[in-house]
Amino acid sequence: MQDNYLEELNESQRAAVLYNDGPSLVIAGAGSGKTRVLTYKIAWLLSSGYRASNILALTFTNKAAREMKERIARQVGAEAARYLWMGTFHSVFARILRAEAEHLGFNSRFTIYDSADSKSLIRSILKEMGLDEKAYKPGTVQARISNAKNHLVSPAGYAANKEACEADAATKMPAIREVYQRYWERCRQAGAMDFDDLLFYTWILFQKHPDVLARYREQFRYVLVDEYQDTNYAQHSIVQQLAGEHQHICVVGDDAQSIYSFRGADIDNILYFTKIYPNTRVFKLEQNYRSTQTIVCAANSLIEKNQRQIRKEVFSEKERGEAIGVFQAYSDVEEGDIVINKIKDLRRRHDYEYSDFAILYRTNAQSRIFEETLRKNGMPYKIYGGLSFYQRKEIKDVVAYFRVTVNPADEEAFKRIINYPARGIGDTTLGKIIEAATGNNTSLWNVLCDPLAYQLSINKGTHTKLQEFRELIESFRDRLVTDNAYQIGTDIIRRSGIMTDIHADNSPESLSRQENIEELVNGLQDFCALRMEEGSTDISLSDYLSDIALLTDQDSDKDNEGAKVVLMTVHSAKGLEFRNVFVVGMEENLFPGSMAGDSPRAMEEERRLFYVAITRAEEHCYLSYARTRFRYGKMEFGTPSRFLRDIDTCFLDLPHEAGIGHKVDEGAARFRKEEVRQQIRPRAQVIAPTLPRNLKKVANSSTENQSAQSMQTSLGELRVGQNIQHERFGMGEVTKLEGSGDNAKATIRFRHAGEKQLLLRFARFTVI
Ligand code: ATP
Ligand code: MG
Repeated sequence: MQDNYLEELNESQRAAVLYNDGPSLVIAGAGSGKTRVLTYKIAWLLSSGYRASNILALTFTNKAAREMKERIARQVGAEAARYLWMGTFHSVFARILRAEAEHLGFNSRFTIYDSADSKSLIRSILKEMGLDEKAYKPGTVQARISNAKNHLVSPAGYAANKEACEADAATKMPAIREVYQRYWERCRQAGAMDFDDLLFYTWILFQKHPDVLARYREQFRYVLVDEYQDTNYAQHSIVQQLAGEHQHICVVGDDAQSIYSFRGADIDNILYFTKIYPNTRVFKLEQNYRSTQTIVCAANSLIEKNQRQIRKEVFSEKERGEAIGVFQAYSDVEEGDIVINKIKDLRRRHDYEYSDFAILYRTNAQSRIFEETLRKNGMPYKIYGGLSFYQRKEIKDVVAYFRVTVNPADEEAFKRIINYPARGIGDTTLGKIIEAATGNNTSLWNVLCDPLAYQLSINKGTHTKLQEFRELIESFRDRLVTDNAYQIGTDIIRRSGIMTDIHADNSPESLSRQENIEELVNGLQDFCALRMEEGSTDISLSDYLSDIALLTDQDSDKDNEGAKVVLMTVHSAKGLEFRNVFVVGMEENLFPGSMAGDSPRAMEEERRLFYVAITRAEEHCYLSYARTRFRYGKMEFGTPSRFLRDIDTCFLDLPHEAGIGHKVDEGAARFRKEEVRQQIRPRAQVIAPTLPRNLKKVANSSTENQSAQSMQTSLGELRVGQNIQHERFGMGEVTKLEGSGDNAKATIRFRHAGEKQLLLRFARFTVI
């Protein structure tokens, strides 16, 4: 074990890491090492006697959790790090809820509804209640229900809450409480929880079952939370349930980076932390290790303009660096060219990889022009967010089959596949099934299994079709216990008829759909491989679904995808860093967004968001705005963002025509209009996350049963002492071979990732 890692911290960071006499709050500006403190604190807790399974660390993305785990493994050894409870609030609580589902009247294989599922369910309920979607916008209804859950308000609590009901009445949506009640029941009938439920039910579980809470309190002797400024009331309350008694809690955050109030995050959680945990020791970190002095000073001068904040001094001892470049473009298309030319220019002058560049924007829609310009210039890029892989139709179809297999009560998935591929079960029949299910307080599946018992008026032909569908699903279900996600998943794809349906279509899109499904199969394989490598046996289809339901934007990242320019929204860039950052679309009504105009609070949040954007940059930061932009199908004239004026001009390199604060030159845009129009084409599909296919997989076919010196695999002989190159863990040496067939395993000692046991069937490595 290495114990010199504490030397990699400055004095204040070390003090925060070593403090263990009560609650602690590390509050500090961007790039000052908060996440680093959390990581090292965990390593230190482990080396001072805490067991990994007694530590709970909650992070903002799964990717951040993985990176922290890998770092800790390097410091204290892989074995010590393996059993840490580390992940996002949602993934950790989903795991707890699966284990404790029965206390809440759920099956442990409950489905997790994504936002689209939950919206679709709200739509059905509105329809059944005869409410017009124009008066009751599904998105608004969804947001109110979500808000209620994030404040731990149940349907009954909502109906009894005068304020909420009055607000609904004032906006002419008095029936929301009824919709909420029905939505709640329907999710339960479908054995489904939406994202907010994962928090709400955890809180309910602990609230109603003190014995269960006592068990988890005993288990999680130390609780750590990153990005605490973006926790909502529900998250904050669960943390309090767990840590309120023993008070072994350390949270880190930056009030200046609170950017999720629209999702119910409450900046007060961090501002009042010391009131809730009265003996809190507060640590402040002031040195920024990420960015040049200029970038840090520019960011300081910006955030000073906010009223509500904890004052902090942040400084950098890195080089002074270049001023922040501000670019003015005539049009959004020209903005794309300017940014891409600047990337080329920087690459000529410095030793930068493409992945050293990030283009950050306020809204997803802005990515398209950059995408096209990058593509035209033959530059590799990767977009995070937007229409993610798992949101595509063919993928959602396949996943719906998986979901019904695991949980046949899942209403949204059921509706998706009951007649896909077409099997002659029309909307009328589905309508009858839904009606019978709602009337009898049961699931659609139960009605399907016994149509007569529910007096479904269908003819014999339809009856047969329903039974065939049931048998198909049951045949998949039979394999749930014996098969892993990869085995059963590939079987479902083959037998559901989806592949045949896609093959039958000769359009070019069909090819890309096939590729996407192949990609999904790769994903299933990777999932099993990764879990096995981590020493876990949770590789069932249900585990897989749980995993993909909780993927966040950043998680689709694959370490091995090579150097690519990164495109993402500022929101998803939180916590990350890049050598060069472009913040684009710096215009009024875009950044800050038009909604912020009326509310000082919202305007401050937009400013914090801009602060997050600038502070991602290590070496160079550029801001750009366009005078004209094609939005909502028409040309708009833009004014440079007020935020550009919030930064002290001494840190900026302004364009000659310094348009900031000047009148807009409308004429200049006229000539570009046509050009812009031509560029507007439907959004191209986001590049699928591709896996390198050049690495050969060492497959199964060993004949040995016990430990062996060598093993025959389909690609040749594998021997103890041989060196291998693994896709994820790098170079390593085979130290042991055992098992046979599907269970053939190799133990590998990796140079940087410690010792791991890999199941050969899934392992992705080449012998060198
Ligand atoms: P953010 O607010 O953006 O989440 P943060 O406060 O969590 O930032 P980190 O990401 O932990 O900051 O650290 C920023 C960068 O500075 C990282 O690259 C980290 O490795 C580096 N760093 C932090 N502390 C030190 C240190 N004492 N010595 C050298 N590098 C450091
Ligand atoms: Mg951080």
